[in-house]
Amino acid sequence: MSKNVLVLADVRDGELRNVSFECLAAARRVADGGMVTAVVLGSKAAGLAEPLGHHGADKVIVVPGEHLDQYTTDAYFQAYKKVIETVNPDVIFTGHTAVGRDVSPRLAARLQIGLVSDCTDVQLTDGKVVFTRPIYAGKAFVKKVVKEGLIFATLRPNNIPADESDTSRSAEVEELHVEIPADSLRTLVKDVVRKTAEGVDLSEARVIISGGRGVKSEDGFKPLQELANVLGGAVGASRGACDAGYCDYALQIGQTGKVVTPDLYIACGISGAIQHLAGMSNSKVIVAINKDPEANIFTVADYGIVGDLFDVVPLLTEEFKKV
Ligand code: FAD
Repeated sequence: MSKNVLVLADVRDGELRNVSFECLAAARRVADGGMVTAVVLGSKAAGLAEPLGHHGADKVIVVPGEHLDQYTTDAYFQAYKKVIETVNPDVIFTGHTAVGRDVSPRLAARLQIGLVSDCTDVQLTDGKVVFTRPIYAGKAFVKKVVKEGLIFATLRPNNIPADESDTSRSAEVEELHVEIPADSLRTLVKDVVRKTAEGVDLSEARVIISGGRGVKSEDGFKPLQELANVLGGAVGASRGACDAGYCDYALQIGQTGKVVTPDLYIACGISGAIQHLAGMSNSKVIVAINKDPEANIFTVADYGIVGDLFDVVPLLTEEFKKV
């Protein structure tokens, strides 16, 4: 049976995040000939409708308003609630991003529906939407089916490939004004200060070069940054490196940091504690560089290099520069 699917598009700094296109690809998979609608919020939302159409939306609902330019739970909740009431979808998808993780439980609670969070795959099997999600910090995967009612899920970035942009496709665009009383907003974002303002967003990066306590200092991250620049990737870190003060906690990957699934993860001077593996072991290709041949990181690595990262990383950078 065809399904009416709604995608809550994720926007950062006025640009659509790739996970929005991944949600559209998942939406097309499960719609089974039904309608795929995307919603985008903020004063620049109208300009983002076109790429959503190119990536599979049949319709884009634009909710304008400067108060939606920066995320606040109250404003987004009210806007999304109104859109959901208007669209009346069978399925809702959004990214398992900072915004998705914050707003989706509130929407689910207020709408009295369940939430399947952090899904790494979505398939339509015998007319049922089947979700795959990790459990036990990524050591196992469980498949879930919602038996009845509205289906609501957050999708982990970088797991479901986005469809190629098809510029011959276009979506119907509808503007929806949502009245959000100023006194209903309990928080006001005055300024956003990012410590990792530059470079590729870690949670959506295709390539991550991560450093652990083995980098030994803040300066020790420089060769990793150079390799990341050459590969168009981002730099990450273990908690060991963050705790030692070598880098900011915004870079931490693992159970209590970010969960990432890049195409290539290069772990440099990281021992491979279970809490670190929880954040990166689903990466498509893992390369480990460690002086200790017994390091646990080699148990999850596709390619292991036993050696000093300060010798190996610059060599890799030089070689990749030639490609
Ligand atoms: P170490 O374990 O000290 O390993 C350093 C490695 O570098 C060693 O294997 C060494 O052989 C190698 N090395 C040293 N010098 C060189 C060199 N020159 N070249 C090559 N290799 C070299 N950790 C996380 O990462 N993420 C989390 O989210 C996280 N959450 C946690 C939550 C809880 C509740 C707890 C208790 C712990 C958590 N940890 C987390 C910490 C985790 O247990 C480890 O302590 C941490 O991951 C270790 O960091 P590390 O691998 O960088 O350091």
